[in-house]
Amino acid sequence: MAEVVGTIEPQTAAAEVAQTTDGFHIVIDALKANDIDTIFGLVGIPITDLARLAQAEGMRFIGFRHEQHAGNAAAIAGYMTKKPGICLTVSAPGFLNGLTALANATTNCFPMILISGSSEREIVDLQQGDYEEMDQLNAAKPYAKAAYRVLHAEDIGIGVARAIRAAVSGRPGGVYLDLPAKLLAQTMDAVKGKNSLIRVIDAAPRQLPAPESVQRALDLLKGAKRPLILLGKGAAYAQADAEIRAFVEKTGIPYLPMSMAKGLLPDTHEQSASAARSFVLAEADVVVLIGARLNWLLSHGKGKTWGKPKQFVQIDISPTEIDSNVAIAAPVIGDIGSCVSALVAGLDASFPKPSIEWTGAITERKSTNLAKMAATLAKNPSPMNFHSALRAIRDVLKTRPDINVVNEGANTLDYARSIIDMYEPRKRFDSGTWGIMGIGMGFAIGAAVTSGKPVVAIEGDSAFGFSGMELETICRYDLPVCTIVFNNNGVYRGTDVNPTGGKDVAPTVFVKNARYDKMIEAFGGIGHNATTPEELTKALLEAIASGKPTLINAVIDEAAGTESGRLTNLNPQSAAMKK
Ligand code: ADP
Repeated sequence: MAEVVGTIEPQTAAAEVAQTTDGFHIVIDALKANDIDTIFGLVGIPITDLARLAQAEGMRFIGFRHEQHAGNAAAIAGYMTKKPGICLTVSAPGFLNGLTALANATTNCFPMILISGSSEREIVDLQQGDYEEMDQLNAAKPYAKAAYRVLHAEDIGIGVARAIRAAVSGRPGGVYLDLPAKLLAQTMDAVKGKNSLIRVIDAAPRQLPAPESVQRALDLLKGAKRPLILLGKGAAYAQADAEIRAFVEKTGIPYLPMSMAKGLLPDTHEQSASAARSFVLAEADVVVLIGARLNWLLSHGKGKTWGKPKQFVQIDISPTEIDSNVAIAAPVIGDIGSCVSALVAGLDASFPKPSIEWTGAITERKSTNLAKMAATLAKNPSPMNFHSALRAIRDVLKTRPDINVVNEGANTLDYARSIIDMYEPRKRFDSGTWGIMGIGMGFAIGAAVTSGKPVVAIEGDSAFGFSGMELETICRYDLPVCTIVFNNNGVYRGTDVNPTGGKDVAPTVFVKNARYDKMIEAFGGIGHNATTPEELTKALLEAIASGKPTLINAVIDEAAGTESGRLTNLNPQSAAMKK
């Protein structure tokens, strides 16, 4: 498809160029008309010139080493800003790499648009064997909230507008926009091109809840003996921080944040029931879900975790989420800001505060559990374990609530989630709804570029491996990202042996005593090797102060860590043995 690249070269007379435009320019103009200023992507045929042009026209193009991470960066940018993050990929394999991130964004309700170049329709549809031939539109459909293809330059404005609206309105998600190579090269009259652009008005309109649904919820809550509020990442996404705080504090109801909702209220808030999580989930009688789904992360709202019978209020923008796992007594459908404000407005003097028996029991549980955790964290084993290393990180991050935290792994995720407190909203980005690994460096880059603030990525050594090459991207853009690799020599841990005594190591084992810190040095970043909590503290303080790309190889006891972290029950073998 070399001719496509050639078309952007100025071959025509200057006067003529001034009167015509082409697909490349209209795509960029359409994005800019909607205040989109950043593209995450990876260049190649047929979109290299699109990336060049975006940069030439004042947009930021952040180039990655693998499309999945560009897609993850776009998705987290969308989550942080409520504007769709843009990922740009080449056709077929590049598109497929980006598709993983698009599917993850859709699953997590993050707004993003995957724009991909594609081969010519005529050849693809007749399966005549084009360069990187693939029916990308249909491949994307099952994994996207919406998927569109544009065939004519005059429709680019509409295509981009539809993609933006689909990504951010209602329940946010991933949108695919297919741009065949020929479209990018199409020329049209410049004035007509300009007039074809659409600035999307009110892309995510407020959706007010029905007053009777608000009243039903308030009535249910009024009768509750042991109420609980559960905040999910939908609540964080909604940017209704003041309304949520008012609802929590005016009702006095204890709350639990899901992992990415941590910091919506500071984790040190006296009404946080995080340290008594199992107790409140089992004991509560009325639970208010705000932007949280009753999926596997919440044991589907039933079973032992949920203990005593309970009734739910569910606030969500998606009406079909209701009753998805258990019956919902009081659905409140609308955007979280509007729904929570309506509830706050309905809190009159007759609204009861939770009883002292309930809040007192929670406080008691919390202090017992916190004392236990403090004792575990105070230990100083050699080599370090997850707890002693995380204690060091926690104490540094406490002094910098503005820092973004990325977290993935199995054990590294499980322990860090409960040990690292968050103080500000939308600062914690992790494995999310699928519980996946591989989001690390993509989220870290997306968060650093979007916020302009430092990022600390707390990574299991296995999780880090999925996106490790993006260290070069971090160094290339000189991003203030400090990656901490919890190195215990393997997946889960490094102690497994090959039972046959053969030459190959066990499936879960990596190279022993690897020095991940050396990797970043190859690209001009700063590496640290930390074998004690003191070394880790010093390295992290230096890393943050430097504002430079850094990587700390945190050496953890290779015997520390459990199989699949806290998901041991999901391994078929362990599950079968339990039966
Ligand atoms: P968590 O994993 O933290 O429990 P989920 O991703 O499962 O959170 O749930 C997020 C929920 O929030 C989704 O059901 C989604 O429809 C909802 N949601 C997202 N944005 C909004 C919004 N602005 N207003 C209302 N609900 C929203």
